[in-house]
Amino acid sequence: MSDWTKKTAPLNTGAQIPLVGLGTWQSPPGAVEKAVEAALRAGYRHIDTALAYGNEAEVGQGIKASGVPREEIWLTTKLDNPWHKRVEEGIASSLKSLGVDYVDLYLMHWPSSTRPDDLKKHHDDWDFVKTWAEMQKIPKDQARAIGVSNFGIKNLEILLNAPTTTVVPAVNQIELHPNNPSPKLVAYNTEKGIHTTGYSCLGSTDSPLHKDPALLKIVEKTGKTSAQVLIKWGLQNGWSVIPKTVTESRVKSNFDLNGWNLEDEDVKALNSLKDRFKVCGDAWLPIKVFFGDDE
Ligand code: NDP
Repeated sequence: MSDWTKKTAPLNTGAQIPLVGLGTWQSPPGAVEKAVEAALRAGYRHIDTALAYGNEAEVGQGIKASGVPREEIWLTTKLDNPWHKRVEEGIASSLKSLGVDYVDLYLMHWPSSTRPDDLKKHHDDWDFVKTWAEMQKIPKDQARAIGVSNFGIKNLEILLNAPTTTVVPAVNQIELHPNNPSPKLVAYNTEKGIHTTGYSCLGSTDSPLHKDPALLKIVEKTGKTSAQVLIKWGLQNGWSVIPKTVTESRVKSNFDLNGWNLEDEDVKALNSLKDRFKVCGDAWLPIKVFFGDDE
């Protein structure tokens, strides 16, 4: 049976992304350093952060405190929306805060070029295609791979068909859990050679998923936690996952993934839940970026 904690997926750059990472959104600076350190000590080799999370410095401190060599760790961070016209500054700021020379993956956090002087407004003369053109210029020794996040099919089509696009994003990081499965978008990513990472794989803070009757049946049958089942659901569907926790016991239990698998019927049952909810919508952005479940 596979060692899920060591498994990686190939990116279109030739790099291998570890399939299980630690998420850090809403991980406060006081707690995230310890969570990152605990995760790396427990064997995680993938950490996901973002400039917008306001915790890059502490994430970097956690990496250092773990004693795990930098080159053994996959580190992802993201360009914040009000920085779309300042990509060079954005990556420089993240590297400085994290205290590292490079990140393994730099994502455009959202396809929204928000005005820094008024977060309710979009730039008149800029869009994500222009941002991507700037991201393509980032030296490889600063960001080994570049990718996108929160891109649906419609925006990916625009990006991939733009004359300035010469690099296909290595990753599209999107919300994926059984109440937001997005099979068409995942298939589209795969068809274009874009690796999918699923965020909010547990359904995020106060997730209703932990009480879902279909999930609880599988929990009972397998003797695993609801979080472990949700993580495995993503992995067995073929994408990488970045469950977030600042609780040390959960850091460990969420990584206890070897020696068992979900049966096909369990994966299918979770693929077919009727309820729908999205953790991250687009109402807070100055433009619409989601155009239906899958687009
Ligand atoms: P998750 O789905 O990972 O859920 C996190 C929540 O689940 C926290 O409240 C955590 O609590 C709790 N939790 C963790 N483990 C367990 C467990 N074993 N049992 C019960 N509850 C548990 O949510 P996120 O929305 O944080 O998504 C994961 C990561 O994805 C983010 O942290 C971020 O890195 C990334 N992300 C990216 C986005 C993007 O736009 N690209 C958007 C959203 C997320 P506690 O910490 O208290 O233990």
